[in-house]
Amino acid sequence: MTRRLQIVVVGAGVAGLACAAALGRAGHFAVVVEQAPALAEVGAGLQLSPNAVRALDWMGAGEAARAAASRPEATELRLHRSGRVVYRMALGRTAETRWGAPYLHMHRADLLRALEGAARASGAEIRLGQRVERAGDVRGGAAVYTDAGVIEGDLVLGADGVRSVLRGNLPGGSKPLFAGHVAWRGLVPAERLPAGLLSPRTTVWMGPRRHLVTYPLREGRLLNFVAVEEQESWTAEGWSTPGDPAALRASFADWGEEVDTMLAAVPETFRWGLFGHRPLRRWSQGRVALVGDAAHPTLPFLAQGAAMALEDAVVLARALSTFEPTAGLEAWERARKPRATRLQKAAARNGRRFHARIAPEQWVKALALGTFARAAPDLAQGLNDWVYRYDPTAAPI
Ligand SMILES: Cc1cc2nc3c(=O)[nH]c(=O)nc-3n(C[C@H](O)[C@H](O)[C@H](O)COP(=O)(O)OP(=O)(O)OC[C@H]3O[C@@H](n4cnc5c(N)ncnc54)[C@H](O)[C@@H]3O)c2cc1C
Repeated sequence: MTRRLQIVVVGAGVAGLACAAALGRAGHFAVVVEQAPALAEVGAGLQLSPNAVRALDWMGAGEAARAAASRPEATELRLHRSGRVVYRMALGRTAETRWGAPYLHMHRADLLRALEGAARASGAEIRLGQRVERAGDVRGGAAVYTDAGVIEGDLVLGADGVRSVLRGNLPGGSKPLFAGHVAWRGLVPAERLPAGLLSPRTTVWMGPRRHLVTYPLREGRLLNFVAVEEQESWTAEGWSTPGDPAALRASFADWGEEVDTMLAAVPETFRWGLFGHRPLRRWSQGRVALVGDAAHPTLPFLAQGAAMALEDAVVLARALSTFEPTAGLEAWERARKPRATRLQKAAARNGRRFHARIAPEQWVKALALGTFARAAPDLAQGLNDWVYRYDPTAAPI
């Protein structure tokens, strides 16, 4: 191992806490600086694929994550209105056998708690209620400038999300760009739903210019939903606004009885504009680097944004234990960028797959997918092998 580094991490979301845990596991010391006064997450769920679970295990958060998670038995793509299943990917035991780790559903707050536990256990310090204004190299190291003073370390990691302040410090750092999609998110307590409606699987309901993803959380006590629709612009102030459940229902009206029943039970919802960035030429400059959404924001249509943040953390911790700090950042970026770029493109493509301009187009897509899945079931099951088999604990650096 190289010498023990002190690393300042900006942001205590998935990427920041994962970096702190992974760096600690690799023998380094992380100071995490978070602007929020408490560690909190939106009331929503996350799908964590086997590649993400491998990363959690390596950083010491796997056990706590597994204990709080559910294990879905399948992902199904269904057509709106008819509800017809056009593609089914087995998860459960099949996932573990095929991809070497389980596929999980988790409440975001539970994931954050598991990561915080692993970060603290590895000796990380978490400072809440401090907003970082900028960062830059100082003699022999790097520093962040916060509203409560300066914090120095050997390196600074910007894990400050898609609205990253530190991204603005890098050449080519742009303002976030609206991606043309708005997501309604929320949770429905199971007791508001008829018995039998909650099944242990992810369902993607596909329709014209919109799709809806549903899955249960916390042993079936909650139904998580993400309803995405195309929209020309995002004019609301801020990034998320309280949504009107009646407007959500109107947007997805006539999507079939099951969808109607689920949406009728929604007590409250939030709307999120989905934003991205133009790709950066480099994710780091000197001793300041970006990780997670700050480096490579990804549309949620492949459920890989948090997974990539977890993978980033493991590969970075390994690189910094193999090389000197700036060489480690370079090696990490070389190892991660091709995969992150491929995943960003694949997620955008999924958005186009899930949506159709007109109903007949949806049928043509469904027919093609259904025929493929019947003709070559193993190939169909393996469509995401390249995503789920990736092992950040052994990937070349
Ligand atoms: C609708 C939706 C569904 C999704 N579903 C999935 C899924 O199923 N599976 C999956 O893998 N991914 C999913 N994602 C993606 C995933 O949520 C993100 O990729 C992930 O949360 C990014 O984590 P992050 O830590 O990089 O950023 P963030 O979660 O945005 O965290 C950034 C942190 O930095 C802090 N911060 C920001 N600026 C400052 C500052 N100046 N000073 C101090 N602190 C600061 C913030 O307060 C925050 O705590 C989904 C995303 C969306 C929108």
